Amino acid sequence: MPSRYNIIISGTASTPTLILNTYTSALIALDDETDEETVRSILARPLTRETDTPASAKTIATLSRNGFLVESERDERAEINLRGELGRYRSRQVMLTILPTLRCNFSCDYCFEAHPDENMTPEVEDGIVRYVQSVRRDYDSLFVTWFGGEPLLRLSVIRSLAPKLQAVFSHYSSTIITNGFLMRRQASRHLLDAGVSSAQITMDGPELFHEARRPHVDGVPTYARILENIHDACELDLAVSVRVNMDRKMAKAPESMARLIADVYDASGGRAVPYFSPVFGYENAPDFSTGNRTKSLCMIPQHHLGSPAVRAACSTAC
Ligand code: SF4
Repeated sequence: MPSRYNIIISGTASTPTLILNTYTSALIALDDETDEETVRSILARPLTRETDTPASAKTIATLSRNGFLVESERDERAEINLRGELGRYRSRQVMLTILPTLRCNFSCDYCFEAHPDENMTPEVEDGIVRYVQSVRRDYDSLFVTWFGGEPLLRLSVIRSLAPKLQAVFSHYSSTIITNGFLMRRQASRHLLDAGVSSAQITMDGPELFHEARRPHVDGVPTYARILENIHDACELDLAVSVRVNMDRKMAKAPESMARLIADVYDASGGRAVPYFSPVFGYENAPDFSTGNRTKSLCMIPQHHLGSPAVRAACSTAC
């Protein structure tokens, strides 16, 4: 049967139709009209042995291999939940998210963060090192996500803290979540030197969408420069993934997403492909699936909310 995570992005005169599976991240371009018709018809209905004709068998095999078709008894949503839960408990890896600064050089309309003028102090850096030393005995490796605000506004913190953490854990790896604007070639080199092997950059659609939804605080354009930075990072072998925050407006303009995919593909020499994530409702932004705004962004899974201990530990009164 078709996966519940399939998205079909219709082609235009100059771009092919794309099919994307947001669970496996598989992306297939359909150049040929006959292929497109076959694929659309296969994905439009539950598959039975009778419909598995020799003519479509090869296509069905490709779609199955890439997760566009799944066995009828599979529950993909349950699998995703289970993976998340297992990942939390079985790891011998300590995972830290470190914010070198709370400031940001963008002012995205859906951002849920306040951006006070606060940077990480040397005392906090020392505290992190002491914490990592204190858990060293219980773990084999350390994984760090550099986050913000915009973490590249304080690249100096990453450069100073990373070697100290690597001195504690020889098995060390890290990634950065950034808006990509400051990730110039030299910054990418510094990141690689600091053990950062991958970067997640958010781009919200092709140029006009992106500039409108993710404006720089000084109003300068960012789209072309981010693509340039992706190009340089990929050349240096820093792995780049491009996240697209999907809201309802963008879902109504799927053809423009093909433009973004093509731009990122060209800039990265085919090494980076955008993936799509729904926007969760907050006071600034309507929820992708319900269209509602909420006052607070609760990250606690629904099934834990009944627990008095969880509610007591929560700092917000949502
Ligand atoms: S780049 Fe990230 S942190 Fe900065 S305003 Fe946009 S969403 Fe918020």
